[in-house]
Amino acid sequence: MNKFIFVSGGVCSSLGKGVAASSLGALLEGRGLNVRMVKCDPYINVDAGTMSPYQHGEVYVTDDGAETDLDLGNYARFTSGLLSRTNSITTGQVYDSVIRKEREGRYLGRCVQVIPHITDEIKSRILAASREDPDTDVVIVEIGGTVGDIESIPFLEAARQLIHESGKTNAISVHLTLIPEVAGGELKTKPTQHSVKAMQEQGIQPDVLICRAPVMLDEPTRRKIALFTNMAPDAVFTSYDVDTTIYEIPLIFFEQKLDQVVLKRLGVESRHANLAPWYSMMERFKTRRGKVRIGIVGKYMDLHDSYKSVYEALFHAGLACGVEVELVKIDSSRLEGSDSPENVLGAGGEAEINGILVPGGFGQRGINGMVRAAAWARENKVPYFGICLGMQIMVIDWGRNILGWEDADSTEFNQDTKYPVISLLEEQVDVKNYGGTMRLGKSESVAEGGSRILAAYGEKSISERHRHRYEFSNKYRKEMSESGLLLTAFTPDGSLVECTEWPEHPWGLGVQFHPEFKSKPTAASPLFRDFIAAARDRKQVR
Ligand code: GLN
Repeated sequence: MNKFIFVSGGVCSSLGKGVAASSLGALLEGRGLNVRMVKCDPYINVDAGTMSPYQHGEVYVTDDGAETDLDLGNYARFTSGLLSRTNSITTGQVYDSVIRKEREGRYLGRCVQVIPHITDEIKSRILAASREDPDTDVVIVEIGGTVGDIESIPFLEAARQLIHESGKTNAISVHLTLIPEVAGGELKTKPTQHSVKAMQEQGIQPDVLICRAPVMLDEPTRRKIALFTNMAPDAVFTSYDVDTTIYEIPLIFFEQKLDQVVLKRLGVESRHANLAPWYSMMERFKTRRGKVRIGIVGKYMDLHDSYKSVYEALFHAGLACGVEVELVKIDSSRLEGSDSPENVLGAGGEAEINGILVPGGFGQRGINGMVRAAAWARENKVPYFGICLGMQIMVIDWGRNILGWEDADSTEFNQDTKYPVISLLEEQVDVKNYGGTMRLGKSESVAEGGSRILAAYGEKSISERHRHRYEFSNKYRKEMSESGLLLTAFTPDGSLVECTEWPEHPWGLGVQFHPEFKSKPTAASPLFRDFIAAARDRKQVR
């Protein structure tokens, strides 16, 4: 039977609940357990696919094509258990299926209510996730929001019931709170006491408390918290602010024996802990030498979370290449006016960057600035990495500036262009619904011999995830490649272009898929790694 750990949060949001849950997952994997991470999101959207990256941050895509909350990206970076559609449960999905069943008459005339029908649906989804991979030992269920939120109540109630039904050693509650510091440097435990009370009002006595605090809590403070919250003092942990990297948090928890306490509570025999990959990753972090500056030329620059996986993957690549990667965020629309790319990006310019990355995106705004940035990188032999939209931008630049097709464009941005070098897939032409209808999820690409993409992956068959509607237009394949643009990876049937590369260039490459989703601190994405290596080498040459 699976064990369950329910992770909830209190006092306020943005305490790092996702990172705490993932770090616990990493520790349990280090103990040889198979961990499955599940996220419950109290919002009414069915999935994150229709939410604006400006407000909600990135949409994380799973192998099976679910468009999910960005917390699943944390799970993927810290743990290695199966991630699929079932790992993400939202209020929208739950109500959607309960209402469908009601319309089908499946409740046999009963009055359909939050308890038990909504909570049963939540429970059955959590149980389905726990059974999907028969090797799963522990399911960590993160409940979004904060205890006390109206929207979270059904999820906490479902957790309460599952804890009750599973028995004490099969399901536990881990609660994350804040210990704020007031003027004079004093740490205050009262909000945490209130937060645990709020949990108790929901019928859940937390078994483990993780306190987010500026510094490590001392023994008297832990004892005081334990006394007021009905906990054992050894079950009160600190997630103190780190100035290194979030990837040190598993080790910080390990030193406090979080995994031992959790295993004991779950009645799992203690086993050898292997955290070697995490320790060697931290070693690489501490021995990085020098910096490379990477210009991210995109459109969702104000919110860091909008390109979360891309930024994390750059950090991982820095670890792999022994350099610190400094992010220079450039709103592409700035490059459309009188600011020339050279002034903004070039040597002596305001950013002096060593490489350019154009990430994914939707809609017309800022596109011409991206094309100018790509042209500048191509002409000045600056390493360039285009992801999804970033590859499409490479193709538009080639059409406009090498083939002289002035209005070359994607039909996403200009329906009337004479040269639709990027256009809609046949099957997408009649799509009217926006939710979940793009080319989504894992598929295979095959790399050509002698290409940079093959050098990066080291094998011809590449499996990465997609999230887009538009494609390289096959009717321009001949002219594009005869004029020198290298088309270096295709779908297995050869029908779609998956990678473009610049000839006679240190490293200019675009892919139609999203390699950032599979990058880990302990195993950087090969393309990110080679891009950062190229940026580092170029900086050294200069
Ligand atoms: N807007 C482009 C498309 O739909 C690119 C999408 C992306 O970058 N994820 O094809």
